[in-house]
Amino acid sequence: MARARLRKTKTNKWRGEIPIASLYTAGVGGQIFFKALKERGELVGTRCGPCNQVYVPARCFCERCFGELTEEIKVEPEGTVKSFSISYMDHQNRRLKRPLASALVQLDGATTVLLHRLLDVKDASRVAIGSRVEAVIKPKAKRTGSILDIEGFRLIAKKIGVSR
Ligand SMILES: [Zn+2]
Repeated sequence: MARARLRKTKTNKWRGEIPIASLYTAGVGGQIFFKALKERGELVGTRCGPCNQVYVPARCFCERCFGELTEEIKVEPEGTVKSFSISYMDHQNRRLKRPLASALVQLDGATTVLLHRLLDVKDASRVAIGSRVEAVIKPKAKRTGSILDIEGFRLIAKKIGVSR
């Protein structure tokens, strides 16, 4: 049986542009979150009672039971770092002047995590899973209804306990 021979062919390329415009909507749940953030500087989620979950940002349906979520919950701007990553190189493999840090933060009152920047992380040894952070929210005049209305999270200095 003769084997088929693959011919090496030169791949043709065409350069061009495709004009694409898009409009992203945050959806009903996202609107609840972004409206509260823009207008009141608050962080709002939605609660599923049967699953004992508080989703932040707010969502319309529970990921566990698929029930509709209608109960809005304001959560605290403080939370706990659940995971984090620190980048020292940019996407073109060039060393950054200052490292960039991002974290998954569980806000107090929420059962889910929110991904955002960690601000002013010059010393990576200061960050740990379990670090306490607080959201830095832009002043009202600068808020646009975007996730970037939250500038990021900054580490909260550990409070020195009083021994008894
Ligand atoms: Zn549920």
